[in-house]
Amino acid sequence: MMNLKQTLEQKLGKAIADSTNGELYAALLELVQELAQRKEGREGKKKVYYISAEFLIGKLLSNNMINLGIYQEVRDLLQENGKDICEIEEFEAEPSLGNGGLGRLAACFLDSIATLGYSGTGIGLNYHLGLFRQKFENHLQKETVNPWIQPKSWLRKTDVCYPVSFRGMTLQSRMYEILVTGYHNRTNKLCLFDVDSVDEGIVGEGIQFDKKDIAKNLTLFLYPDDSDEDGRKLRIYQQYFMVSNAAQLILEECVQRGSDLHDLADYAVIQINDTHPTMIIPELIRLLTERGLEMDEAIGVVKKTCAYTNHTILAEALEKWPLRYLQEVVPQLVPVIEILDDRVRRQFADEQVAIIGRDDVVHMAHMDIHYGFSVNGVAALHTEILKKSELNCFYRLYPEKFNNKTNGITFRRWLLHCNPILAGQISQWIGDGYRKDAMELKKLEAFAGNAHVLRRLLWIKKENKKRLAAYLKRTQGIELNVDSIFDIQVKRLHEYKRQQMNALTVIDQYLQIKAGSLPETPVTVIFGAKAAPAYTIAKDIIHLILCLQEIISHDPEVSPYLNVVMVENYNVTLAEKLIPACDISEQISLASKEASGTGNMKFMLNGAVTLGTEDGANVEIHQFVGDENIYIFGASSDEVIRHYEKADYHPADYYSKNPRLQAALDFITGPEMMEVGSREHLERLSEEWKTKDWFMTFLDLEDYMEAKARAYQDYADRENWAKKMLFNISNAGFFSSDRTIMEYNRDIWKLD
Ligand SMILES: *Cc1c(COP(=O)(O)O)cnc(C)c1O
Repeated sequence: MMNLKQTLEQKLGKAIADSTNGELYAALLELVQELAQRKEGREGKKKVYYISAEFLIGKLLSNNMINLGIYQEVRDLLQENGKDICEIEEFEAEPSLGNGGLGRLAACFLDSIATLGYSGTGIGLNYHLGLFRQKFENHLQKETVNPWIQPKSWLRKTDVCYPVSFRGMTLQSRMYEILVTGYHNRTNKLCLFDVDSVDEGIVGEGIQFDKKDIAKNLTLFLYPDDSDEDGRKLRIYQQYFMVSNAAQLILEECVQRGSDLHDLADYAVIQINDTHPTMIIPELIRLLTERGLEMDEAIGVVKKTCAYTNHTILAEALEKWPLRYLQEVVPQLVPVIEILDDRVRRQFADEQVAIIGRDDVVHMAHMDIHYGFSVNGVAALHTEILKKSELNCFYRLYPEKFNNKTNGITFRRWLLHCNPILAGQISQWIGDGYRKDAMELKKLEAFAGNAHVLRRLLWIKKENKKRLAAYLKRTQGIELNVDSIFDIQVKRLHEYKRQQMNALTVIDQYLQIKAGSLPETPVTVIFGAKAAPAYTIAKDIIHLILCLQEIISHDPEVSPYLNVVMVENYNVTLAEKLIPACDISEQISLASKEASGTGNMKFMLNGAVTLGTEDGANVEIHQFVGDENIYIFGASSDEVIRHYEKADYHPADYYSKNPRLQAALDFITGPEMMEVGSREHLERLSEEWKTKDWFMTFLDLEDYMEAKARAYQDYADRENWAKKMLFNISNAGFFSSDRTIMEYNRDIWKLD
C-alpha cells in the first residue's frame, strides 16, 4: 500500500495543512486518476457499448475514492491536518451531461458494469455547457449557461479522432475519456466525443446562440431548444455525430480484438439508450458495406449486435424526424433507411410498423425494433404496457424480442456516498456484505422490533435533515424547520409527474390552516425541478410554486405549520443532500405515464416512505414493502388508459362538484397570488387546468389528499414510522443497478 500522506504531499509540493482546498482537490484528482488507471481491466472478446445522449454522472471525486477503497483513509488524513473532505468536494463542478432519470440511469449502469467486472464502454457527447443552469428571478425560471469543464477535470484528451461527414462539410472529431471506477473492481471508460472548433464565445444572452453555425455549436448544449427547425436539425447533427463516432470506434476496437467484421456480434453488443442513438443502425450498415460486406449480410450483422431500451410511452417523446431533415443533414444515411423501410414493407403489410411513415417521417423507435434483437422496457408495468398497447403491433411480430429490465440505482453513490451515517450504521448491524450483495439488506428486518435500532434510524434521519438545512442555508439562503416533516418531490418538471397536484394540495392545506385547522406536525413541502426552456406550462407550474413559497413564508399564521421550498437548479449534487433527509417521497405520476422512475428507489433506500400511484417501479416497491409501508392512491393504469381511449375525462366535472378543489383552484388567480405573481402565467395555468388537465390531476386529487393526510398523521407515531423506514431500507436490495446489469448481461449482452 502506498503512503498516502507522502504521495499527496509530493503532488502538492508542501504539507497538507499548508495547502488550500483547491490545491488539495487538484492533487486528489490526480492521485485518483493514477489509481483508477492501474485498474483498467483486460478486454474480454466481447464488450458492451452503452450509447446514450446523456450521462448524468454527478461529481466523481468521492465516489471514485469509495470505489477505489481509499475514501476513509483520505478523509481521516485530511481531518488530522485540519481539512474537511466535504469542503474540498465543493471545488468540483458537477458535469451537466444529462437531464434527469435517463441520464442518471446510464451513469448508474456504468458504475455497475465496472463493479461487476464486465468489459463495457459508455459513448456519448462532451457538451461544454451541458444542460442549462436554473436561476429564479421574479418567481420565474431563467436559464443560464452551465459550464463545468475546469482546468483540472476528469476529462482526458485523447488522440482518437474520426472524420464525420454532413452535407457539404466534414468535421474532425476528438475523443475525451473519463475513467469509470468499479467498486473494488476494474476501471472502464466513458468516451465523450467533441469537436475542437466548438466556441463558447458564440453564446449570447441567457442560452441564445446561432443554431446554424454547426462547427462552433455542435457540442455546446445538451438538448438545444428544438421549438424551431434549426434547433431540430441541430439535434440531428448531434445525434449523427455521436453515432458516427461510436460506430467508427466500435469497428476499430473490434478489429483490434480480432474481428473480421462478419463476426462483429461476437465482439460487440450495442445497447441503444432510448431513441437518440438510433442512427447507429443505418450508420453501421453503411460502414460495413463500405468495408466490403454485402447489404444483406451487413443488415444481418447489425441485427445481431444492437439492442434497444425504451424509456417512455409518451407519444410525443418517441422521436420522429422528417426525412427531409435527414436528407439535408446526413444524406448518406437516407438510402440505407429507405432500404430498411422497404424490407419492412415487403415483409409486413401493416402500415403502422413502417419505418418511413406517412408524410415521410422516420420513426426512430421502429428502426430500433425491426433492426435490433432485443427491446426492453424499464419496469414490469411499463414493459406490460408496451406489449399490451403502446407497441402491441410490434409485440405481435416479435414476441421473443420483448423483455423487461427493471431499472436500478448504484448503492455506492445513493447510499455509501450520500448517506455515510446510515451506511456505517447498517454495517454495524448486519456487516459489510450488503455493499457487494444488496439483497443482504433484508437482514435488517430482524430488527423491526428493536426499539434501539428504530430510535437510531430516527436520529440518523434528523442528522441528515440538519445537514440539508445547513447546506441550503449556506448555498441558497433557504431556512428549513428540521422538526417538520420533509415531504419531497424532486425530479424534472413535467405535467405527467404532477407537481401541480402537489402544489394544489399545498394551497388546500394553506386554506385549512387559515380556517383554523392545524396539522399535528409541521410540514415542509420541498420541490426541485427544471423545466424544459420551451415548455410553457411547466414553467407556469414553477411560477405557481415559487409564488406559494413567497406567500406562505410571509404569513405568520401559516408558516409555523406549513412551508413550501423550491430549491434552485436541482441536480445530482442536490439530490445527494435532499434524499437522505426525506420523510415522504412523492411519486405521484399519473398511472401508466412514468416508465419506471429511479428517484423512487433512491428515496426508499434512504428510509423515506413513498406516497405514490401504482405507476412504474412504484408497483414493484409496493410489492416488496407491503401495504403497511407505503401510501398508494389513485386510479390504476388500466383505468387511466380506458379514460384516454374513451376520452371521457373532463376536469370541469370535478371542479364544479368539489368545493375544496374549487377554492384551491380559485386561489391561483385570486388577489393574494396576483400580488406576488404574474397574471399572464397564473391565468394561463388555471385555464389549462380547468379545461384540459391532460394528466388528470382531479381524477386522483381527493384520494391523494386523503393518503397524504394519513401519512402525516402516521408520522406522529415515531416508533411505528421508524418501522416503515426500516422495511423500506431492508427491501431496497432488488433496486440495486448491479441486479439490473446482471439481468442485462444474462438475457441480452451475454459477455463472457
Ligand atoms: C434520480 C434522478 C432523477 C430521476 O428522478 P425521477 O424521480 O425518477 O424522475 C432526476 N434527476 C436527478 C438529478 C436524479 O438524481
